[in-house]
Amino acid sequence: MQEKDKQKILIADDERFNLNILVDILKSDYKIIVAKNGKQAIERAMSLNPPDLILLDIMMPEMDGYKACKNLKENEQTKDIPVIFITAMKEEGNEARGFDLGAVDYITKPFKAAIVMARVKVHLKMKWQADMLRKMASIDVLTEIPNRQKFEETFDKEWNRAVRNKIPLSVAFIDIDFFKQYNDAYGHGQGDKCLKEIAQALVNSIRRPTDFVARYGGEEFIAVLPETDISGAMTIAEAMRSNVELLKIPHAQSVPLDYVTISIGVSSVFPSSGFSDAALVSVVATADEMLYKAKSKGRNQIQCR
Ligand code: GH3
Ligand code: MG
Ligand code: MG
Repeated sequence: MQEKDKQKILIADDERFNLNILVDILKSDYKIIVAKNGKQAIERAMSLNPPDLILLDIMMPEMDGYKACKNLKENEQTKDIPVIFITAMKEEGNEARGFDLGAVDYITKPFKAAIVMARVKVHLKMKWQADMLRKMASIDVLTEIPNRQKFEETFDKEWNRAVRNKIPLSVAFIDIDFFKQYNDAYGHGQGDKCLKEIAQALVNSIRRPTDFVARYGGEEFIAVLPETDISGAMTIAEAMRSNVELLKIPHAQSVPLDYVTISIGVSSVFPSSGFSDAALVSVVATADEMLYKAKSKGRNQIQCR
């Protein structure tokens, strides 16, 4: 995300008049979407392209601002979006309730443009910084792909989804062949460069938005392939193997080729009724076992079970 990209604000107010004033104050600096009640505000906040900030009127029909805020803060998908309450002067004294529900600030009606702009700007800046921190905490610094922490989170989420919906889930462990010798022969800096290129080749090999690949540690990577059975997983693994081979990164000490290659272990589960969590935990262990089999059978290959 670039700071120059316009941030998005959702304004929820049942009174057109108030809505128009706020839109006029903010529209030149931000992308604006509107909602006319609490329910609609939640729907819009849950969209694929969520707002960075929500201005929420308290008094609205159907679902009031308090209830909408509570809802937003309890939902994993919307809990990190800051909420600013819009209150009328006569409601003053209720701000404490808003803060208790997780709001970050409040703006009073009638609106003063300078105050609205200043408060919105402060909270959007903090939201941008919080987003950056969240992103940095889940990205591997060297390869710039997701790190092991993000893998753990993703695997947990996908495992729950697989069990809930009784859909298959596959895991692939990927390890660079003879990488110690590569570092010894070409230097650690060149080794780092090689790791980056391979990470990119792996990312380029996955197909669906839910497919995921992370750096597991050292020269090991791991892929999570949701809604993918063993044959689908083998297709992706083969794409990874051949894409790395096609990079033709010279490696004189490698066998069978004089290029950098990878070995992959693949494992799948298909949760059915009576399925236990233990079987899912073992999918990772089995993929690891298969990786060792691929190594012992000569490397630059995939083994699965
Ligand atoms: P195998 O084919 O059996 O996988 O052998 P290998 O040499 O690849 O495996 P080994 O586990 O013996 O060595 C892994 C090497 O990866 C050792 C370490 O120096 C290198 N390595 C791990 N992390 C990094 C890194 O961040 N940068 C660089 N340049 N090298 C790394
Ligand atoms: Mg290795
Ligand atoms: Mg290794």
